[in-house]
Amino acid sequence: MGFEVRDVLAKSNLYERAGKDQHTFCIRVGRSYPYDVRVLANVRDNAYWVNTMLHEFGHAVYDKYVSPALPYLLRSRAHISSTEAVALMMGGLADDPGWISSVAGFPEEELVPDLAKLAERRRADKLIFTRWALVMYRFEKAFYENHDREDLNALWWDLVEKIQYVNRQASRTESDWVKIDVALAPVYYHNYVLDNLTAAQLRNHLEKHVIGGAFYEHEIAGRYLQEAFFSPGAREDWRHTVLRATGELLEPKYFVSALS
Ligand SMILES: [Zn+2]
Repeated sequence: MGFEVRDVLAKSNLYERAGKDQHTFCIRVGRSYPYDVRVLANVRDNAYWVNTMLHEFGHAVYDKYVSPALPYLLRSRAHISSTEAVALMMGGLADDPGWISSVAGFPEEELVPDLAKLAERRRADKLIFTRWALVMYRFEKAFYENHDREDLNALWWDLVEKIQYVNRQASRTESDWVKIDVALAPVYYHNYVLDNLTAAQLRNHLEKHVIGGAFYEHEIAGRYLQEAFFSPGAREDWRHTVLRATGELLEPKYFVSALS
């Protein structure tokens, strides 16, 4: 795609070692140009890490190609959902049959028996996750409207039954609504849904209106992302970033059609 990431790779810490942080993330250290972008990961040789590395380097190219002509305070991403959308679009290539054969070099004929399984896994993953995110979103909304309410567990299970189709067990007494996400990353789950919607819309726009083919095979897609999405940094909010890059405001139909 024409993105240069060898400098990022050279500064990154990619492999496991004793005592090392077990998370994975991309970070830009400071905002002086040339930007100092690094990835910390614990890479192993499997499909999970292909996805994760593509994901983190999606963040990395966004961070790297923010225009240095911007004022210091705007040399950032538009919104968390903007950088996550790019990271998800790139990470999703790990189970994209076109990428697996044309970029990763896995023989196409050997993929054929697994194509339906791959598609089904992608679809199930997105559908199941979206329902889970909606449970979290609606629960927290009600929780913050009245955090003194006594029926939080009933509220939780009402939502789980209605949205995830998982039935409560009468014998269970644990406070199932108590989640580390609620405590440590409150009011965050809507972002995951925005990320997925934005990623689908961006990919659709690149492939239908910019390239006319798979976005990951074309340098034009890289240049387009750089100019329309990364370079303007935090000059506009996420809504206008999506509008500028795709010609319309965020629109769920691309996510829906990517699932069908
Ligand atoms: Zn991410």
